[in-house]
Amino acid sequence: MPGPISEAVVARVDFGACVLLLEDGGLLGARARGKLMGPRKALGNTIVVGDRVRWEPTGTSGHREGEAVVTAVDPRRNVFSRRSSANRPGEQVVAANIDQVVLVASMAEPEFSRGLADRVLCQAEHAGLPARLALNKVDLAPQSGDAAPQSILDDYLRAGVPGHCLCAKTGEGLDDLRRACQGRRSLFVGHSGVGKSTLLNALVPRLQLLEGAVNEKTGKGRHTTTAAILVRPEPDYELIDTPGVRVFALWGIGPRDLDHAYREFRPFLGACRFGDCRHAGEPDCAVRAATDAGTIAPRRYASYVKLLSELEDERDPA
Ligand code: GDP
Ligand code: ZN
Repeated sequence: MPGPISEAVVARVDFGACVLLLEDGGLLGARARGKLMGPRKALGNTIVVGDRVRWEPTGTSGHREGEAVVTAVDPRRNVFSRRSSANRPGEQVVAANIDQVVLVASMAEPEFSRGLADRVLCQAEHAGLPARLALNKVDLAPQSGDAAPQSILDDYLRAGVPGHCLCAKTGEGLDDLRRACQGRRSLFVGHSGVGKSTLLNALVPRLQLLEGAVNEKTGKGRHTTTAAILVRPEPDYELIDTPGVRVFALWGIGPRDLDHAYREFRPFLGACRFGDCRHAGEPDCAVRAATDAGTIAPRRYASYVKLLSELEDERDPA
């Protein structure tokens, strides 16, 4: 056992319990000290995957050997959140203290979902996080034209989001993505079916073992479908795997600040004729002009207008 007070990173949270990843790679099941818990006795957002925490061994008899109690959570550098899809809408912090968001999407089966991609990228921008696009199943895509992977990646490159053409089945592009993930902590997010598991297993050959070891520590069987999970295949190389999503609802971004979440719009904000321009058809709009000039990708602009009207409808239901 390390000293009486030690630090660790949270690898998984399961209602009132969590799993800690220690500096030496060891895993420890832990509970939170009572005063850290919310009124519902669930951890909610109090302790999330990626949190750096202080812990003490429980030591008292009656506890399972190797259990710990989390006594404090360090301040977070950043959080990546979404709006909870549960009955009670609210913030769901997916993970904290992240270095980059890797959005996994596929070219086909399922087809590339611009709406989901742009929501995830907006949320990353809102969190102040760099993002990259991992475009999988390029073997199923046309090789030229507007629907080709390069054309899609080009839209995002202009938005400051680098991308990768990948085929998880053959391994194409994997080395580049692996290099882009080494030395940092990456959060992987994607629509279900895009091949995220295939991709992560190819990136990290021992992934299933590592995830299995974390899951075993919860002592509650496999509730993995709803939980994010952090693994560290090598020192300084960490991945956070999240369950595939079907919808992704924004948290903390409203219709008034959506334009700031489209990173490539920023240089033009403030240059429109109207100070409260929504960039959705107003005259002398600088964002629109930048789109017509080709600086902003027309498909990104179109997705902004669509997302804006969805957010306005939500706020102001007809
Ligand atoms: P997940 O839900 O995102 O974790 O997706 P899976 O990894 O389970 O993959 C979904 C399906 O896509 C499986 O049938 C995979 O074999 C297939 N798949 C994954 N990567 C590729 C790829 O690069 N090309 C093709 N054609 N199929 C792939
Ligand atoms: Zn405007």
